[in-house]
Amino acid sequence: MISVKGVSKQFGDYVALDDVSLEVPDGSLTALLGPSGSGKSTLLRIIGGLETADSGSVEIHGVDATNVPPQRREIGFVFQHYAAFKHMTVRDNVAFGLTIRRKPKAEVAERVDRLLRIVGLAGYAKRYPNQLSGGQRQRMALARALAVEPRVLLLDEPFGALDAKVRTELREWLRRLHEEVHVTTLLVTHDQEEAMSIADDIAVMDNAHIEQVGNPRELYDNPSSAFVMGFLGEVS
Ligand code: ATP
Ligand code: MG
Repeated sequence: MISVKGVSKQFGDYVALDDVSLEVPDGSLTALLGPSGSGKSTLLRIIGGLETADSGSVEIHGVDATNVPPQRREIGFVFQHYAAFKHMTVRDNVAFGLTIRRKPKAEVAERVDRLLRIVGLAGYAKRYPNQLSGGQRQRMALARALAVEPRVLLLDEPFGALDAKVRTELREWLRRLHEEVHVTTLLVTHDQEEAMSIADDIAVMDNAHIEQVGNPRELYDNPSSAFVMGFLGEVS
C-alpha cells in the first residue's frame, strides 16, 4: 500500500499541494484524475522521491519513504515522453535494469521474454526504439519499468502524447498487464474516460487537494461536489 499523509508542497508562494492524504491499496490500479495544474504530477513525484514535500509523510508498504532516495524505493516510472536507449534493442532496453543489477543471464532472458509477450512485443525484441510506433514504445516503457519487479508502478500521463485510438488500445494493454503482474499502480491522467474505464479506484484532484476518492461507479453515482460531477460529466 502507498500511504500519503498530510502532504503539502509550495513552489515559492504557490501552493501546489495542500494537506493531501491518499491510500493506494496493495495490487490496485488507482487513477489520479484532475485538470491541468491541480497537482497530480507533483504528488506522483513526491511519492516517487523525485520531489520533496514541505510537510507530511509517504509510506510505501508500511515503510516511511520520506528519506529514502528514489532509486531505493523500488518504483517503476513511466512518463509521457518515453525515455529509451536509442542504440539498444527493445530486448536490451527492457533488460537494462536487470543487467546492471548483474542478474543471471537465463533469469533475465526469461523475465524479459515474459514481459515482452505480455505487452505484445514478442516479435519486436530485436528492433530499435525508433523502429517502433508511439504506442509500441510506451508498451516497451511499461515492460522496462516492470522488469526489475518494482513494488510500485507510477505512471504520469503515459499515453498523453498519443492519438485517441492508440490511447484506447493502450488502456487495454495496461489493464491486461496489471491483471498479470498485479503491481500497486498509480496512474496520473486528466482523461476521465481513461480513469473510468481502467481504474479500480479514482482520486479526483482539484486545486492542490483531493476532492473525492472512490471506485468509478461510486464517483459517478454519488459525486461529493459539483466539481466532481462536472468533471466526470465531461465523459463523452
Ligand atoms: P498537468 O495535467 O498539466 O500535468 P498537474 O496536475 O500534473 O498538471 P503539477 O505539475 O503537479 O500539475 O503542477 C501543480 C502546480 O504547481 C502548477 O500550477 C505548476 O505550475 C506548479 N509547479 C509544478 N512544479 C513546479 C516547479 N518546479 N516550480 C514552480 N511551480 C511548479
Ligand atoms: Mg502533470
